[in-house]
Amino acid sequence: MKNNIQIAIDGPASAGKSTVAKLVAKKLNYVYCDTGAMYRAITFEAMAKNVALDNDDKLVSLLKDTIISFKPANPEQLVYINNLDITQAIRQPEVTNNVSTVAAQEGVRKELVKRQQEIAEDGSIVMDGRDIGTTVLPNAEVKIFLVASVKERALRRFKENQIKGINTTLDVLEFEIAERDRKDSTREISPLIQAKDAILVDTTSMNIDGVVQKIMDIINK
Ligand code: C5P
Repeated sequence: MKNNIQIAIDGPASAGKSTVAKLVAKKLNYVYCDTGAMYRAITFEAMAKNVALDNDDKLVSLLKDTIISFKPANPEQLVYINNLDITQAIRQPEVTNNVSTVAAQEGVRKELVKRQQEIAEDGSIVMDGRDIGTTVLPNAEVKIFLVASVKERALRRFKENQIKGINTTLDVLEFEIAERDRKDSTREISPLIQAKDAILVDTTSMNIDGVVQKIMDIINK
């Protein structure tokens, strides 16, 4: 019998999913799983090993040798490939702008979805991504679809990048975010789409605490 509680948080790029998912997981004392980091990790590894980003077979064999793991830390959980800390590297623009190509590959998705479902077997979980409510955890108790205007999302990412010392202009960010959404929403396998039973939360004019509170209210209901 399944006693674990599953909370799925999906939505477009830079909608604040991982920030709020992490805080909700902390409040509930659940595990937090950032599935986007897994797609970013295999993209990083493929780029490092010169594997074509649309070669599904080669990516799948690369994945077989690639252990992706997480370590809780503050403020950001650490992401590892085998024993290498890639937490910062996977947030660089080169990875961000290539990840959608890798994430569109069927074999890659199959393998990562399997790993995500295994992680969810270990206990109650908050998982964020693009296809959690539709594909990875279709029976999740709570499904949230988090959105915000492209302008607002670009502005948030711009501020984050400034803190991290990543140089990008607001216009470029807005274009890149819209482009990533377009690719993620139009791919054939598990496209970014709101699950029928997901609750839409528009965070455009909300702050982080407000979004967390709203999600906690939905969960408590
Ligand atoms: O959430 P994040 O922006 O880190 O995700 C990076 C990319 O990984 C997305 O743009 C998407 O292409 C892919 N992704 C996905 N399915 C998920 C999570 C992320 O396809 N469940």
